Amino acid sequence: MVMGCLFCKIVALEIPADIVAESELSVAFNDISPQAPTHVLIVPKVHFQNAAELAYEQPDSIADLFQLAGEIAESRGLSGYRTVFNTGAEAGQSVFHAHLHLLGGRSLSWPPG
Ligand code: AMP
Ligand code: ZN
Repeated sequence: MVMGCLFCKIVALEIPADIVAESELSVAFNDISPQAPTHVLIVPKVHFQNAAELAYEQPDSIADLFQLAGEIAESRGLSGYRTVFNTGAEAGQSVFHAHLHLLGGRSLSWPPG
């Protein structure tokens, strides 16, 4: 756990979140500012700053995030969905604990803004 990390606190249940699914390695909860009818954040239980660091240090966790995303999408009957990692402030990362966004339930345009 990293001091001051919002998502570490959510994983530790120190800050409330709307948790929708969990696996051995990951926790999924609703984004507080949803950008689509389904907007879930899926985070590794162990702190890593971004997706690349996670992939190097705990590669099984990357697979686990996408498996959980697929399970949530299937359980909600989503016909399509988008999974996104923002890395770095320029790409819109605001919480520096790796997290996979799962967005769905509406039609999504491409390219993203
Ligand atoms: P990013 O900008 O890619 O780092 O994504 C961070 C996401 O965390 C944003 O979509 C925020 O809306 C979301 N967020 C911030 N605080 C909370 C919180 N307390 N509970 C759930 N989601 C949050
Ligand atoms: Zn953290």
